[in-house]
Amino acid sequence: MGPRNRPVKDNIWQVAGSGLTAAEDAAAYLVAFDDMAALIDSGCGRATDLLLTNIESTGVAVERIQMLLLTHCHIDHAGGAAEIRDRLGCAIVAHALDADAIASGDERLTAADWYGRSMVPCPVDWRLEGDEHMAVGDGGIRVVHIPGHTPGSVAYLTESAGNLVLFGQDVHGPLDPGFNSDRRAYQESLRRLLDLRADVLCEGHYGILSGQEQVAKFIRSFLTS
Ligand SMILES: [Zn+2]
Ligand SMILES: [Zn+2]
Repeated sequence: MGPRNRPVKDNIWQVAGSGLTAAEDAAAYLVAFDDMAALIDSGCGRATDLLLTNIESTGVAVERIQMLLLTHCHIDHAGGAAEIRDRLGCAIVAHALDADAIASGDERLTAADWYGRSMVPCPVDWRLEGDEHMAVGDGGIRVVHIPGHTPGSVAYLTESAGNLVLFGQDVHGPLDPGFNSDRRAYQESLRRLLDLRADVLCEGHYGILSGQEQVAKFIRSFLTS
């Protein structure tokens, strides 16, 4: 498999996920600002070389990546974080409620046992409380705490050429007692995501949804009331 990427909007690309890196990788996205770049999720860690080559194929040098923004602790999203932190020296960012599972490599909470793999523990440099706003370069990234799938699930929100782009990742769930999922919190989080009226939704396993209607329809399909 050669280096590949999928453009999302100006300065945003999908760089990992099924068809781009390892089959069990959730999607990972690259956002470039004028003076830095951020990677959203890391894949499971089995195809990190290819992930970094895919990033370079966008024209963004990996040295520009200053932050790895993790959406939650699951291995398909965070398993590659330790190696990426070692190789790029970027800061690992995750919500405080999922940070211990990442830092300890907890097999159950990271779903590593479910995947039949082991999670490489990774220090978390910045523990989010939820609803932060990061000013980066010529733009910004907003954090939205969306507990439910896991207690510390977050979505990231940025703007590209007038489009509100939402990185929701596991918007679809699933909910599982092993993940400490919370059904009621999940439903509230779906409503919070709907209220954002994003133009583009970058999902972890369902690809890229474009247009406010499409995005809203996708999110609504998981609402039970
Ligand atoms: Zn997950
Ligand atoms: Zn996932």
